[in-house]
Amino acid sequence: MENGECIFCEIAEKNLPAEIVYEDSDAIAFLDDRPLFPGHVLLCPREHYDTLLELPQHLTGSMLANTQLLARAVEAAVDAEGTFIAINNRVSQTVPHLHIHIVPRRRRDGLKGFFWPRQPYKDDAAKEAVRDAIEREVRKLLNG
Ligand code: AMP
Ligand code: ZN
Repeated sequence: MENGECIFCEIAEKNLPAEIVYEDSDAIAFLDDRPLFPGHVLLCPREHYDTLLELPQHLTGSMLANTQLLARAVEAAVDAEGTFIAINNRVSQTVPHLHIHIVPRRRRDGLKGFFWPRQPYKDDAAKEAVRDAIEREVRKLLNG
């Protein structure tokens, strides 16, 4: 990706304005400009990685620690009862620079319409086939 093409890189480099709520050497967090609710924050690595799958392991710990930090801060700041934390990876991802959505939640806030209908397994064999396929892929990834 060419310099200047990624809006979240531009925000991280302070070339584009944003309502920044937190930054450190690894990450930057700012208000989503089309929030699901007031206080909806996006947490991004400073460096450009398209999705969570490209994030190098030396940044995974601080990304999760910063997610906890911001979830606590958002809850307290807008007096929320909880949070919804989400990452779109490729599908439904409109900005191809990894960002973690931290959304304040309250009971009966209406966000349940956001969730997709569930798809039950056809039968126990279908469920076992998927479980087995994922377990085998995990083993392959762990064994290099
Ligand atoms: P996603 O659809 O998961 O890729 O989320 C992208 C999010 O970025 C959306 O919720 C947008 O509202 C938000 N967004 C896009 N451009 C900006 C911007 N310049 N400043 C703040 N948030 C933005
Ligand atoms: Zn970027």
